[in-house]
Amino acid sequence: MNRRDALKLAGISVATTAVSAKETVKKTDLSNAKVMSSIASLPKNGKGVKIVIVGGGWSGLSVAKRLKQYIPDADVVLVEQNTTFISCPISNLWLVGGVELEFITHSFLDAANNNGYTYFNASVFDIDRKKRKVYTNEGYLDYEYLVLAPGIDYDYSAWTSGDTALEYELRTKYPAGFKNHSEHDTIRRKIENFKEGNFILTVPGGNYRCLPAPYERACLIADYMKKNKIKGKVVLMDENPDVTIKAEGFHAAFNEMYKDYLVYMPNAKIEEIDLKNKKVMTEFDEVSFSDAAFYPRVRGSKLLEIAGVAKDAINKGEANIDPFTYQVIGDPHVYCSGDSRPMAFSKSGNTSNSEGYIVARSIRDKIQGKKNVWKSPHTECFSAVALNPMRAMSVNTDYQWSESNKSFTFFNVAMMQNWHDKSGTDAGKGLIEWGDAMYKDMFY
Ligand SMILES: Cc1cc2nc3c(=O)[nH]c(=O)nc-3n(C[C@H](O)[C@H](O)[C@H](O)COP(=O)(O)OP(=O)(O)OC[C@H]3O[C@@H](n4cnc5c(N)ncnc54)[C@H](O)[C@@H]3O)c2cc1C
Repeated sequence: MNRRDALKLAGISVATTAVSAKETVKKTDLSNAKVMSSIASLPKNGKGVKIVIVGGGWSGLSVAKRLKQYIPDADVVLVEQNTTFISCPISNLWLVGGVELEFITHSFLDAANNNGYTYFNASVFDIDRKKRKVYTNEGYLDYEYLVLAPGIDYDYSAWTSGDTALEYELRTKYPAGFKNHSEHDTIRRKIENFKEGNFILTVPGGNYRCLPAPYERACLIADYMKKNKIKGKVVLMDENPDVTIKAEGFHAAFNEMYKDYLVYMPNAKIEEIDLKNKKVMTEFDEVSFSDAAFYPRVRGSKLLEIAGVAKDAINKGEANIDPFTYQVIGDPHVYCSGDSRPMAFSKSGNTSNSEGYIVARSIRDKIQGKKNVWKSPHTECFSAVALNPMRAMSVNTDYQWSESNKSFTFFNVAMMQNWHDKSGTDAGKGLIEWGDAMYKDMFY
Protein backbone atom coordinates (compact mmCIF):
# COMPACT_ATOMS: atom_id res chain seq x y z
CA MET A 1 0.00 0.00 0.00
CA ASN A 2 1.51 3.36 -0.97
CA ARG A 3 1.21 6.59 1.00
CA ARG A 4 -1.64 7.86 -1.17
CA ASP A 5 -3.72 4.65 -0.69
CA ALA A 6 -3.14 4.75 3.05
CA LEU A 7 -4.28 8.37 3.14
CA LYS A 8 -7.32 7.50 1.08
CA LEU A 9 -8.35 4.76 3.49
CA ALA A 10 -7.80 7.00 6.49
CA GLY A 11 -9.82 9.71 4.81
CA ILE A 12 -12.73 7.40 4.12
CA SER A 13 -13.06 6.21 7.71
CA VAL A 14 -12.83 9.74 9.09
CA ALA A 15 -15.32 11.03 6.53
CA THR A 16 -17.88 8.36 7.45
CA THR A 17 -17.77 9.35 11.12
CA ALA A 18 -18.02 13.01 10.21
CA VAL A 19 -21.15 12.52 8.11
CA SER A 20 -23.05 10.60 10.78
CA ALA A 21 -22.07 13.10 13.46
CA LYS A 22 -23.29 16.02 11.32
CA GLU A 23 -26.48 14.32 10.10
CA THR A 24 -28.69 17.24 11.08
CA VAL A 25 -27.96 20.85 11.93
CA LYS A 26 -28.66 21.45 15.61
CA LYS A 27 -31.78 23.58 15.99
CA THR A 28 -31.05 26.95 17.58
CA ASP A 29 -32.29 27.25 21.14
CA LEU A 30 -35.16 29.71 20.90
CA SER A 31 -35.56 30.28 24.64
CA ASN A 32 -33.80 33.65 24.38
CA ALA A 33 -35.52 34.61 21.17
CA LYS A 34 -38.92 34.24 22.85
CA VAL A 35 -38.15 37.16 25.12
CA MET A 36 -37.04 39.26 22.15
CA SER A 37 -39.55 41.82 21.00
CA SER A 38 -41.05 41.91 17.57
CA ILE A 39 -39.74 44.64 15.33
CA ALA A 40 -42.62 46.97 15.94
CA SER A 41 -40.62 50.04 14.96
CA LEU A 42 -40.46 49.11 11.27
CA PRO A 43 -42.98 51.26 9.41
CA LYS A 44 -45.18 49.43 6.91
CA ASN A 45 -44.57 50.18 3.24
CA GLY A 46 -47.95 48.79 2.21
CA LYS A 47 -51.31 48.02 3.84
CA GLY A 48 -51.50 44.55 2.33
CA VAL A 49 -49.84 41.21 2.83
CA LYS A 50 -46.53 41.07 4.73
CA ILE A 51 -43.71 39.46 2.72
CA VAL A 52 -40.26 38.94 4.25
CA ILE A 53 -37.23 38.13 2.07
CA VAL A 54 -34.08 36.76 3.67
CA GLY A 55 -30.91 37.59 1.74
CA GLY A 56 -30.17 40.78 -0.21
CA GLY A 57 -28.01 39.28 -2.92
CA TRP A 58 -28.79 39.12 -6.64
CA SER A 59 -31.87 37.05 -6.03
CA GLY A 60 -33.35 38.69 -2.91
CA LEU A 61 -32.88 42.23 -4.28
CA SER A 62 -34.60 41.25 -7.53
CA VAL A 63 -37.51 39.49 -5.78
CA ALA A 64 -38.06 42.51 -3.47
CA LYS A 65 -38.16 44.99 -6.37
CA ARG A 66 -40.55 42.91 -8.49
CA LEU A 67 -42.86 42.14 -5.54
CA LYS A 68 -43.44 45.86 -5.00
CA GLN A 69 -44.16 46.23 -8.72
CA TYR A 70 -46.55 43.27 -8.97
CA ILE A 71 -48.24 43.68 -5.56
CA PRO A 72 -47.89 47.43 -4.78
CA ASP A 73 -49.83 47.29 -1.50
CA ALA A 74 -47.68 44.45 -0.09
CA ASP A 75 -45.53 45.27 2.93
CA VAL A 76 -42.13 43.98 1.73
CA VAL A 77 -39.10 43.67 4.05
CA LEU A 78 -35.67 42.60 2.82
CA VAL A 79 -33.47 41.21 5.63
CA GLU A 80 -29.76 41.33 4.82
CA GLN A 81 -26.83 40.83 7.16
CA ASN A 82 -24.38 43.01 5.18
CA THR A 83 -24.40 46.79 5.34
CA THR A 84 -23.11 47.29 1.80
CA PHE A 85 -23.58 45.32 -1.40
CA ILE A 86 -20.31 44.45 -3.14
CA SER A 87 -20.87 42.38 -6.25
CA CYS A 88 -19.32 38.97 -6.87
CA PRO A 89 -19.84 39.27 -10.65
CA ILE A 90 -17.12 41.55 -12.04
CA SER A 91 -15.04 41.12 -8.84
CA ASN A 92 -12.49 39.11 -10.87
CA LEU A 93 -11.76 42.29 -12.84
CA TRP A 94 -11.46 44.27 -9.61
CA LEU A 95 -8.88 41.74 -8.29
CA VAL A 96 -6.44 42.85 -10.98
CA GLY A 97 -7.36 46.52 -11.20
CA GLY A 98 -9.72 46.19 -14.17
CA VAL A 99 -12.56 48.18 -12.53
CA GLU A 100 -12.86 50.50 -9.51
CA LEU A 101 -14.42 49.19 -6.31
CA GLU A 102 -17.05 51.90 -6.67
CA PHE A 103 -18.42 50.25 -9.81
CA ILE A 104 -19.31 47.03 -7.99
CA THR A 105 -20.39 48.64 -4.68
CA HIS A 106 -24.02 49.65 -4.09
CA SER A 107 -26.27 50.80 -1.28
CA PHE A 108 -29.08 48.65 0.14
CA LEU A 109 -30.68 51.88 1.34
CA ASP A 110 -30.86 53.18 -2.25
CA ALA A 111 -32.32 49.90 -3.47
CA ALA A 112 -35.05 50.00 -0.82
CA ASN A 113 -35.79 53.74 -1.11
CA ASN A 114 -35.92 53.66 -4.92
CA ASN A 115 -38.19 50.64 -5.01
CA GLY A 116 -40.51 51.23 -2.06
CA TYR A 117 -39.61 48.33 0.22
CA THR A 118 -37.87 48.15 3.61
CA TYR A 119 -34.21 47.15 4.03
CA PHE A 120 -33.69 45.63 7.44
CA ASN A 121 -30.01 45.15 8.34
CA ALA A 122 -30.03 42.02 10.52
CA SER A 123 -28.90 38.44 10.58
CA VAL A 124 -31.45 35.64 10.59
CA PHE A 125 -30.65 32.79 12.97
CA ASP A 126 -33.91 30.85 13.06
CA ILE A 127 -37.27 30.52 11.40
CA ASP A 128 -40.42 29.10 12.98
CA ARG A 129 -42.61 28.14 10.05
CA LYS A 130 -45.56 27.08 12.23
CA LYS A 131 -45.74 30.49 13.91
CA ARG A 132 -44.52 32.24 10.73
CA LYS A 133 -41.76 34.10 12.51
CA VAL A 134 -38.23 34.99 11.34
CA TYR A 135 -35.80 35.42 14.24
CA THR A 136 -32.97 37.91 13.79
CA ASN A 137 -30.32 39.41 16.05
CA GLU A 138 -32.52 42.54 16.12
CA GLY A 139 -35.77 40.85 17.09
CA TYR A 140 -38.35 38.84 15.19
CA LEU A 141 -40.52 39.52 12.15
CA ASP A 142 -43.92 37.96 11.43
CA TYR A 143 -44.72 37.04 7.84
CA GLU A 144 -47.54 35.92 5.61
CA TYR A 145 -45.07 34.92 2.90
CA LEU A 146 -41.36 34.25 3.26
CA VAL A 147 -38.75 34.10 0.48
CA LEU A 148 -35.43 32.49 1.34
CA ALA A 149 -32.62 33.78 -0.89
CA PRO A 150 -29.51 33.17 1.25
CA GLY A 151 -27.17 31.91 -1.50
CA ILE A 152 -24.53 29.24 -0.97
CA ASP A 153 -22.24 27.87 1.71
CA TYR A 154 -18.90 26.19 1.10
CA ASP A 155 -18.53 22.45 1.67
CA TYR A 156 -14.91 21.66 2.63
CA SER A 157 -15.66 18.11 3.80
CA ALA A 158 -14.00 16.33 0.84
CA TRP A 159 -10.68 18.05 1.67
CA THR A 160 -10.80 18.19 5.45
CA SER A 161 -12.68 15.04 6.51
CA GLY A 162 -13.83 16.78 9.67
CA ASP A 163 -10.48 18.49 10.47
CA THR A 164 -11.97 21.79 11.63
CA ALA A 165 -8.57 23.44 12.17
CA LEU A 166 -7.65 22.77 8.54
CA GLU A 167 -11.04 24.05 7.37
CA TYR A 168 -10.58 27.24 9.41
CA GLU A 169 -7.13 27.83 7.93
CA LEU A 170 -8.42 27.26 4.41
CA ARG A 171 -11.37 29.60 4.96
CA THR A 172 -9.30 32.38 6.47
CA LYS A 173 -5.82 32.17 4.94
CA TYR A 174 -6.65 30.80 1.48
CA PRO A 175 -10.26 31.95 0.95
CA ALA A 176 -12.14 30.82 -2.13
CA GLY A 177 -13.40 34.26 -3.10
CA PHE A 178 -16.82 32.99 -4.16
CA LYS A 179 -19.00 34.38 -1.38
CA ASN A 180 -18.15 37.71 0.17
CA HIS A 181 -15.96 40.69 -0.44
CA SER A 182 -13.57 40.15 2.49
CA GLU A 183 -12.42 37.05 0.63
CA HIS A 184 -11.90 39.07 -2.56
CA ASP A 185 -10.00 41.71 -0.62
CA THR A 186 -7.62 39.07 0.75
CA ILE A 187 -7.09 37.55 -2.70
CA ARG A 188 -6.39 40.95 -4.24
CA ARG A 189 -3.70 41.59 -1.63
CA LYS A 190 -2.23 38.13 -2.29
CA ILE A 191 -1.97 38.97 -6.00
CA GLU A 192 -0.42 42.38 -5.34
CA ASN A 193 2.17 40.90 -2.97
CA PHE A 194 2.97 37.81 -5.06
CA LYS A 195 6.67 37.55 -5.90
CA GLU A 196 7.36 34.13 -7.44
CA GLY A 197 6.35 30.46 -7.59
CA ASN A 198 2.97 28.81 -8.02
CA PHE A 199 -0.33 30.49 -7.28
CA ILE A 200 -2.86 27.66 -6.99
CA LEU A 201 -6.50 28.15 -7.93
CA THR A 202 -8.98 25.27 -7.90
CA VAL A 203 -12.18 24.39 -9.77
CA PRO A 204 -14.59 22.24 -7.75
CA GLY A 205 -16.85 19.46 -9.03
CA GLY A 206 -20.66 19.56 -8.95
CA ASN A 207 -22.82 22.53 -9.86
CA TYR A 208 -20.55 25.14 -8.30
CA ARG A 209 -21.22 28.90 -8.28
CA CYS A 210 -20.48 30.55 -11.64
CA LEU A 211 -18.99 27.89 -13.93
CA PRO A 212 -16.64 30.17 -15.93
CA ALA A 213 -15.46 32.36 -13.02
CA PRO A 214 -12.49 30.19 -11.86
CA TYR A 215 -11.14 30.06 -15.46
CA GLU A 216 -11.72 33.79 -15.91
CA ARG A 217 -9.88 34.47 -12.65
CA ALA A 218 -6.97 32.25 -13.74
CA CYS A 219 -6.66 34.14 -17.06
CA LEU A 220 -6.80 37.55 -15.40
CA ILE A 221 -4.17 36.71 -12.75
CA ALA A 222 -1.92 35.23 -15.48
CA ASP A 223 -2.46 38.42 -17.48
CA TYR A 224 -1.43 40.45 -14.42
CA MET A 225 1.71 38.31 -13.87
CA LYS A 226 2.66 38.60 -17.54
CA LYS A 227 2.23 42.39 -17.66
CA ASN A 228 4.07 42.91 -14.35
CA LYS A 229 6.83 40.42 -15.28
CA ILE A 230 6.26 38.35 -12.15
CA LYS A 231 8.26 35.13 -12.03
CA GLY A 232 5.24 33.02 -11.23
CA LYS A 233 2.55 30.79 -12.66
CA VAL A 234 -1.11 30.26 -11.98
CA VAL A 235 -1.68 26.53 -11.45
CA LEU A 236 -5.35 25.84 -12.10
CA MET A 237 -6.27 22.50 -10.52
CA ASP A 238 -9.58 21.39 -11.99
CA GLU A 239 -11.51 18.53 -10.40
CA ASN A 240 -13.39 18.14 -13.71
CA PRO A 241 -12.08 16.30 -16.78
CA ASP A 242 -12.06 19.52 -18.83
CA VAL A 243 -12.97 23.21 -18.66
CA THR A 244 -16.67 23.13 -17.77
CA ILE A 245 -17.88 25.96 -20.04
CA LYS A 246 -16.52 28.03 -22.99
CA ALA A 247 -13.80 25.35 -23.11
CA GLU A 248 -12.56 26.17 -26.62
CA GLY A 249 -12.11 29.86 -25.83
CA PHE A 250 -10.46 29.30 -22.44
CA HIS A 251 -8.05 26.69 -23.87
CA ALA A 252 -7.14 29.15 -26.63
CA ALA A 253 -6.44 31.81 -23.99
CA PHE A 254 -4.34 29.42 -21.88
CA ASN A 255 -2.27 28.29 -24.87
CA GLU A 256 -1.98 31.47 -26.91
CA MET A 257 -1.64 34.18 -24.27
CA TYR A 258 -0.53 32.53 -21.04
CA LYS A 259 1.64 29.54 -21.97
CA ASP A 260 4.42 30.72 -19.63
CA TYR A 261 2.11 31.93 -16.88
CA LEU A 262 -0.68 29.37 -16.53
CA VAL A 263 -0.66 25.60 -16.06
CA TYR A 264 -4.03 23.91 -16.51
CA MET A 265 -4.47 20.57 -14.70
CA PRO A 266 -7.68 18.66 -15.56
CA ASN A 267 -8.84 15.68 -13.45
CA ALA A 268 -6.93 17.17 -10.53
CA LYS A 269 -9.03 15.85 -7.66
CA ILE A 270 -7.31 16.99 -4.48
CA GLU A 271 -6.63 14.27 -1.92
CA GLU A 272 -4.60 16.20 0.61
CA ILE A 273 -3.73 19.81 1.32
CA ASP A 274 -0.60 20.22 3.44
CA LEU A 275 -0.60 23.87 4.45
CA LYS A 276 2.50 23.59 6.65
CA ASN A 277 4.68 22.45 3.76
CA LYS A 278 2.58 24.29 1.15
CA LYS A 279 1.87 21.23 -0.97
CA VAL A 280 -1.24 19.85 -2.62
CA MET A 281 -1.56 16.17 -3.46
CA THR A 282 -3.75 14.55 -6.11
CA GLU A 283 -3.74 10.85 -6.97
CA PHE A 284 -0.90 11.40 -9.43
CA ASP A 285 0.77 14.72 -8.63
CA GLU A 286 2.22 16.77 -5.87
CA VAL A 287 2.12 20.54 -6.44
CA SER A 288 3.94 23.02 -4.22
CA PHE A 289 2.68 26.56 -3.92
CA SER A 290 3.73 30.00 -2.77
CA ASP A 291 0.13 31.15 -2.40
CA ALA A 292 -3.36 29.93 -3.22
CA ALA A 293 -7.12 30.49 -3.17
CA PHE A 294 -8.87 27.16 -2.69
CA TYR A 295 -12.43 26.99 -4.06
CA PRO A 296 -14.19 23.99 -2.46
CA ARG A 297 -17.47 22.38 -3.49
CA VAL A 298 -20.61 24.37 -2.71
CA ARG A 299 -24.02 23.61 -1.22
CA GLY A 300 -27.16 25.66 -0.56
CA SER A 301 -27.03 27.90 2.53
CA LYS A 302 -27.28 26.17 5.92
CA LEU A 303 -30.29 28.40 6.56
CA LEU A 304 -32.28 25.88 4.49
CA GLU A 305 -31.70 23.25 7.17
CA ILE A 306 -32.37 25.68 9.99
CA ALA A 307 -35.69 26.57 8.35
CA GLY A 308 -36.45 22.87 7.84
CA VAL A 309 -36.80 23.27 4.06
CA ALA A 310 -33.80 21.20 2.98
CA LYS A 311 -34.65 18.20 0.80
CA ASP A 312 -33.46 15.48 3.17
CA ALA A 313 -30.45 14.49 5.28
CA ILE A 314 -28.48 13.56 2.15
CA ASN A 315 -29.47 16.49 -0.06
CA LYS A 316 -29.46 18.91 2.84
CA GLY A 317 -27.92 21.69 0.79
CA GLU A 318 -30.85 21.77 -1.63
CA ALA A 319 -34.17 23.48 -1.05
CA ASN A 320 -37.21 21.21 -1.27
CA ILE A 321 -39.23 23.37 -3.66
CA ASP A 322 -41.54 22.96 -6.62
CA PRO A 323 -39.17 23.67 -9.53
CA PHE A 324 -41.82 25.68 -11.42
CA THR A 325 -43.33 27.86 -8.67
CA TYR A 326 -40.36 27.91 -6.23
CA GLN A 327 -42.79 27.20 -3.37
CA VAL A 328 -41.51 24.94 -0.58
CA ILE A 329 -43.23 21.56 -0.87
CA GLY A 330 -45.92 21.34 1.80
CA ASP A 331 -45.63 24.98 2.93
CA PRO A 332 -47.64 27.46 0.81
CA HIS A 333 -46.14 30.39 2.75
CA VAL A 334 -42.45 29.84 1.97
CA TYR A 335 -40.48 30.20 -1.28
CA CYS A 336 -36.82 29.78 -2.09
CA SER A 337 -34.81 31.31 -4.94
CA GLY A 338 -31.30 32.04 -6.19
CA ASP A 339 -28.24 29.83 -5.82
CA SER A 340 -29.79 27.72 -3.05
CA ARG A 341 -32.38 26.38 -5.50
CA PRO A 342 -32.04 22.63 -6.31
CA MET A 343 -32.59 23.00 -10.09
CA ALA A 344 -29.43 22.52 -12.14
CA PHE A 345 -29.57 26.04 -13.56
CA SER A 346 -26.33 27.95 -13.83
CA LYS A 347 -25.59 29.41 -10.38
CA SER A 348 -25.25 32.91 -11.75
CA GLY A 349 -26.28 36.43 -10.86
CA ASN A 350 -28.20 36.84 -14.10
CA THR A 351 -30.16 33.62 -13.46
CA SER A 352 -30.94 34.82 -9.92
CA ASN A 353 -31.98 38.25 -11.18
CA SER A 354 -34.36 36.76 -13.75
CA GLU A 355 -35.83 34.53 -11.03
CA GLY A 356 -36.82 37.72 -9.19
CA TYR A 357 -39.60 38.17 -11.76
CA ILE A 358 -40.58 34.49 -11.62
CA VAL A 359 -40.81 34.21 -7.83
CA ALA A 360 -42.62 37.57 -7.46
CA ARG A 361 -45.14 36.51 -10.14
CA SER A 362 -45.58 33.15 -8.47
CA ILE A 363 -46.41 34.77 -5.10
CA ARG A 364 -48.73 37.31 -6.74
CA ASP A 365 -50.60 34.54 -8.58
CA LYS A 366 -50.90 32.57 -5.35
CA ILE A 367 -52.34 35.57 -3.50
CA GLN A 368 -54.72 36.44 -6.35
CA GLY A 369 -55.77 32.82 -6.91
CA LYS A 370 -54.47 32.84 -10.50
CA LYS A 371 -52.87 29.94 -12.35
CA ASN A 372 -49.11 30.41 -12.47
CA VAL A 373 -47.56 30.10 -15.93
CA TRP A 374 -43.91 29.03 -15.83
CA LYS A 375 -41.32 31.07 -17.71
CA SER A 376 -37.68 30.06 -18.04
CA PRO A 377 -35.02 31.91 -16.05
CA HIS A 378 -32.34 33.45 -18.23
CA THR A 379 -28.58 33.16 -17.97
CA GLU A 380 -26.32 35.69 -19.65
CA CYS A 381 -22.69 35.45 -18.68
CA PHE A 382 -19.58 37.27 -19.90
CA SER A 383 -16.06 36.05 -19.09
CA ALA A 384 -12.99 38.24 -19.51
CA VAL A 385 -9.75 36.60 -20.68
CA ALA A 386 -7.48 39.67 -20.89
CA LEU A 387 -7.26 43.35 -19.97
CA ASN A 388 -6.09 46.39 -21.98
CA PRO A 389 -7.90 45.93 -24.23
CA MET A 390 -10.46 43.86 -22.39
CA ARG A 391 -11.33 40.72 -24.33
CA ALA A 392 -14.22 38.53 -23.30
CA MET A 393 -16.50 35.66 -24.30
CA SER A 394 -20.19 35.25 -23.60
CA VAL A 395 -22.99 32.73 -23.26
CA ASN A 396 -26.74 33.22 -23.30
CA THR A 397 -29.18 30.47 -22.44
CA ASP A 398 -32.72 29.65 -21.36
CA TYR A 399 -33.90 26.33 -19.93
CA GLN A 400 -36.58 23.79 -20.81
CA TRP A 401 -38.11 20.97 -18.82
CA SER A 402 -37.29 17.43 -19.95
CA GLU A 403 -40.14 15.17 -18.90
CA SER A 404 -38.11 12.02 -19.58
CA ASN A 405 -35.19 13.12 -17.36
CA LYS A 406 -37.43 15.00 -14.93
CA SER A 407 -34.96 17.87 -14.98
CA PHE A 408 -34.16 21.07 -16.86
CA THR A 409 -31.81 21.24 -19.84
CA PHE A 410 -30.18 24.18 -21.62
CA PHE A 411 -32.33 25.68 -24.39
CA ASN A 412 -31.66 28.42 -26.98
CA VAL A 413 -27.94 28.48 -26.20
CA ALA A 414 -25.82 31.17 -27.88
CA MET A 415 -22.10 30.90 -27.16
CA MET A 416 -19.40 33.35 -28.33
CA GLN A 417 -15.89 32.08 -27.66
CA ASN A 418 -13.84 33.92 -30.28
CA TRP A 419 -12.16 36.53 -28.08
CA HIS A 420 -9.39 37.13 -30.66
CA ASP A 421 -11.05 39.64 -32.95
CA LYS A 422 -13.52 42.51 -32.68
CA SER A 423 -16.21 40.27 -31.22
CA GLY A 424 -13.86 39.70 -28.25
CA THR A 425 -13.31 43.40 -27.58
CA ASP A 426 -17.03 44.06 -28.15
CA ALA A 427 -17.81 41.40 -25.53
CA GLY A 428 -15.32 43.14 -23.21
CA LYS A 429 -17.41 46.32 -23.53
CA GLY A 430 -20.55 44.19 -23.26
CA LEU A 431 -19.37 42.81 -19.92
CA ILE A 432 -19.17 46.27 -18.36
CA GLU A 433 -22.48 47.34 -19.93
CA TRP A 434 -24.11 44.14 -18.63
CA GLY A 435 -22.86 44.81 -15.08
CA ASP A 436 -24.03 48.42 -15.22
CA ALA A 437 -27.49 47.39 -16.46
CA MET A 438 -27.79 44.69 -13.77
CA TYR A 439 -26.85 47.06 -10.92
CA LYS A 440 -29.34 49.63 -12.28
CA ASP A 441 -31.99 46.93 -12.46
CA MET A 442 -31.49 45.89 -8.82
CA PHE A 443 -30.77 49.26 -7.19
CA TYR A 444 -32.60 51.96 -9.17
C1 LIG B 1 -16.01 35.68 -8.52
C2 LIG B 1 -17.40 35.53 -9.01
C3 LIG B 1 -17.71 35.87 -10.30
C4 LIG B 1 -19.01 35.73 -10.76
N1 LIG B 1 -19.30 36.12 -12.02
C5 LIG B 1 -20.57 36.11 -12.44
C6 LIG B 1 -20.90 36.66 -13.72
O1 LIG B 1 -20.03 37.14 -14.46
N2 LIG B 1 -22.20 36.64 -14.10
C7 LIG B 1 -23.17 36.13 -13.30
O2 LIG B 1 -24.34 36.17 -13.71
N3 LIG B 1 -22.89 35.59 -12.09
C8 LIG B 1 -21.62 35.57 -11.63
N4 LIG B 1 -21.33 35.08 -10.39
C9 LIG B 1 -22.36 34.35 -9.61
C10 LIG B 1 -23.28 35.24 -8.75
O3 LIG B 1 -22.53 36.05 -7.88
C11 LIG B 1 -24.22 34.38 -7.92
O4 LIG B 1 -24.79 33.39 -8.72
C12 LIG B 1 -25.32 35.24 -7.31
O5 LIG B 1 -24.73 36.14 -6.38
C13 LIG B 1 -26.38 34.39 -6.62
O6 LIG B 1 -27.33 35.21 -6.04
P1 LIG B 1 -28.05 34.81 -4.66
O7 LIG B 1 -28.96 35.94 -4.35
O8 LIG B 1 -28.61 33.45 -4.73
O9 LIG B 1 -26.86 34.73 -3.60
P2 LIG B 1 -25.97 35.92 -3.04
O10 LIG B 1 -25.79 36.96 -4.09
O11 LIG B 1 -24.77 35.29 -2.45
O12 LIG B 1 -26.85 36.56 -1.89
C14 LIG B 1 -27.16 35.91 -0.70
C15 LIG B 1 -27.34 37.00 0.37
O13 LIG B 1 -27.96 36.42 1.52
C16 LIG B 1 -27.38 37.02 2.66
N5 LIG B 1 -27.61 36.11 3.78
C17 LIG B 1 -27.26 34.82 3.87
N6 LIG B 1 -27.63 34.29 5.05
C18 LIG B 1 -28.23 35.29 5.73
C19 LIG B 1 -28.82 35.37 7.03
N7 LIG B 1 -28.84 34.31 7.84
N8 LIG B 1 -29.35 36.54 7.43
C20 LIG B 1 -29.32 37.64 6.60
N9 LIG B 1 -28.77 37.61 5.36
C21 LIG B 1 -28.24 36.46 4.94
C22 LIG B 1 -25.91 37.17 2.28
O14 LIG B 1 -25.27 38.13 3.07
C23 LIG B 1 -26.00 37.58 0.81
O15 LIG B 1 -26.03 38.98 0.65
C24 LIG B 1 -20.03 35.22 -9.91
C25 LIG B 1 -19.70 34.87 -8.59
C26 LIG B 1 -18.41 35.03 -8.15
C27 LIG B 1 -18.12 34.69 -6.72
